[in-house]
This record gives sequence, C-alpha cells and structure tokens, in this order.
Amino acid sequence: MKLGITVGVPKETAPGETRVAATPDSVKRLVKYGFDINIEEGAGISAGFRDEDYDAVGATIVSSKEVWATPLVTKVAPPSSAEASSIPSGTFIVSLLEPFRNGDLLEGFAKQRVDALALEAIPRTSRAQAMDVLSSQAGIAGYRAVIEAAHHYGRFFPMMMTSAGSAKATKVTVLGAGVAGLQAIATARKLGAVVEAYDVRPETREQIQSLGAKYIDIQLDESGSGQGGYARELSEESKQKLQAALDERLSKSDIIISTANVPGRKAPTLISESVVSGMRHGSVIVDMATPSGGNCPLSKADQVVEAHGVKIIGYTNYPAMMATDSSNFFARNLVSLLDLFVRPRDSGEPTFIVNLEDDIIDTSLLVHQGTLRLKNR
Ligand code: NAD
Repeated sequence: MKLGITVGVPKETAPGETRVAATPDSVKRLVKYGFDINIEEGAGISAGFRDEDYDAVGATIVSSKEVWATPLVTKVAPPSSAEASSIPSGTFIVSLLEPFRNGDLLEGFAKQRVDALALEAIPRTSRAQAMDVLSSQAGIAGYRAVIEAAHHYGRFFPMMMTSAGSAKATKVTVLGAGVAGLQAIATARKLGAVVEAYDVRPETREQIQSLGAKYIDIQLDESGSGQGGYARELSEESKQKLQAALDERLSKSDIIISTANVPGRKAPTLISESVVSGMRHGSVIVDMATPSGGNCPLSKADQVVEAHGVKIIGYTNYPAMMATDSSNFFARNLVSLLDLFVRPRDSGEPTFIVNLEDDIIDTSLLVHQGTLRLKNR
C-alpha cells in the first residue's frame, strides 16, 4: 500500500562527510511501509552503496535539484546555507541540525515554512533508543577512537611475552563514560589494555566495572548527573577538586581517550598542558570532544598534533571514517523514526501523520508550520 509521500536522500556535501541517510536495506524497509524513495545520484558511493543497489530495491535515482524538491528530505549533516535557503515551503526535513549552534538555520526554516526535525533532540528514553542516531554514531566513534590510538601508538596493547622479549600491557584512561566512552572502554579491553575510567555521573561506576575497567573514584560534593542521561556543568570548586585528583593519574597513562561533554556547553578542560608534558614520550591522547572545544587545550580539529612527545588526535568525524556501518546504523535509526509517522499501523489505511502527542515527535520537531518549538529544550 502506498502512503503517497516520497522521501528524498541527498548526497552529503559537508566537507569530509562520507555517510548517507539511506542504504539499500533501509530503502527496502521504507518501501514496505509504503514510502516512495528518491536517491540523489551518487549519494551512497562514499559509503559503499551504488546507485544500482538502490535502484534494485525500488528507489528512483534523481538529480540534486529533484531530490531537494522531495516533500520529506532525510539527511545526515545539517544542510549548508545554500541548500537550506532553496528548500521549498512545505518540505519536511529530518536531519542532524546542531540546534545549539544553528539558531539562524531554524529561524530560516520557520520563515520558509519548512518543518524540521532535529535528530539530536530525540529524547534518550528506552522507546526512542532505536531512533537515537547520537548513540549509534557515538558508539562507532568510541570504537574508532581506540583504533586510531592503537594506530598512532608504537607499542602493543596487551601484555606480550615472546622469545624476543616482553611488552607490558598498555594503560588506557577513558574520561567520560557515555556512549562513546563505554564503547572505547570495551574496545580497549578487547585489545588487551588495562583500562580505567572516570565520569562525573556516579551511576556510571557499575557500567565501567562491568566492562572490566577500573572506576576512578573521585568524591565530589555534588553529582554531575543532569537530565536524560547527560551531565550538567560542575561548580568551579568541584572542577578544581576533580582536576587535582585526575592530573597525576592522567600523567601516568599511556593512552587517554577523552569524551567528556555537557550538551550545549564548551567541553570541560580536563587534560592540561602540564599533564601532557608529564606523560611518557610516545603516549597518545584522543580528544573526542574536539568538536565542542576539546578536553585538552592543545588538540586541533581534524589534526594529529605532537606536543611534549605526545600525539594528540583531534578528528571531528569518526563515524565518517567507517561510512558503511555508520550509514547502516544511521539509516536503520531513521526507519524506526519514520515508522512513528505511519499510522494506523496494523489496521485501516495507514497515512503519514505528524502526531504531536507522541513525545518523541513533540520533543524533536523543532520547527512546525512556521513556528519554532524549542519549549522542551
Ligand atoms: P555523552 O553525553 O553520552 O557522554 C559524555 C560523558 O561525559 C557523559 O557521560 C558525562 O557524564 C561525561 N562528563 C561530562 N563532564 C565530565 C567531566 N568533567 N569529567 C568526566 N566526565 C564528564 O556523549 P557521547 O555521545 O558519548 O559523546 C562523547 C563525546 O564524543 C562528545 O563530546 C561528542 O560530541 C563526541 N563525539 C565525537 C565524535 C567525533 O567524531 N569526534 C563522534 C561522536 C561523538
């Protein structure tokens, strides 16, 4: 049965963005729901999907102009200002929109009467888990961050005893045990490193320990737990206490993977230059918080810099370095999200409905019928 609505999937144009918002597998599922699909020519190439793969599962391959004229556009990265300004009124765009830094983009959508759903605004609830692209992509990023660290580190991760001598296990410290941090811990453990981790949210202690890592126990006078599984900013006093307790441990680490982040704020500085200068020559820091200002003041976006003999990696888009699986997960998240709009599901004639009584739609639909809906943020 047809829903009478077409989903458009443009080729991503942001520098370094290799992912795509639909895969042949997700297209097959959306077609089953009743959607028609327009894929921009070459949209999936950098993620390993050819036009003919999409064509074979029922998508229509279209030009860039045609894809942007589709009623429902799904994307990975926020549209460029040129793309955004040419979107026709009445379009519904579903994408990462970076709402904290893109107020102008959202206001522009309201004026153009373009509806916009920001994937970042999907709540972190169990019902929304299957739609949560931040989590699916952060997990991939945490994995890739450890692979990058191993690549830039001149030693083994596991303890090795060979006839040519032995090597000690590498000591990895993970700062921030959210989605990326937990996956980094799991990956470093699988590679055989000795891992310890710290997070300001005390509830992460068990999660860290269940992955076989040591929890760094620092007692603060306040909890860093904020809303929805995210952290909140600490007081100046707690920041100083935390820093003093972390400095010595960090200096003794061979590898630091730092993921500490508070939504909408500059990332906290946790790895000072004096800590870096105290680390052993050849150590590696992966500063995953570089996109939000960095946990280390020496990290530089999309560069590997060397300071005091320590390599500091500041890549800003790890998921794009694993575009096939990142796109697979991203696209599956979108299938689950779009499923919310197809009602009734099991009986009658399903149609595409924007139901604002659904808390996931209500929270993430930031622009609707010309109105900015930031009330829940
Ligand atoms: P998240 O919010 O789930 O995790 C961040 C964690 O940091 C939280 O558990 C929070 O409690 C903790 N934290 C906050 N302040 C802290 C502090 N002072 N000390 C210790 N821990 C602290 O976010 P996530 O999805 O896991 O992403 C983690 C980071 O990685 C974010 O900065 C995100 O932007 C970044 N990220 C980067 C890439 C990339 O390609 N560079 C990709 C995905 C995510």
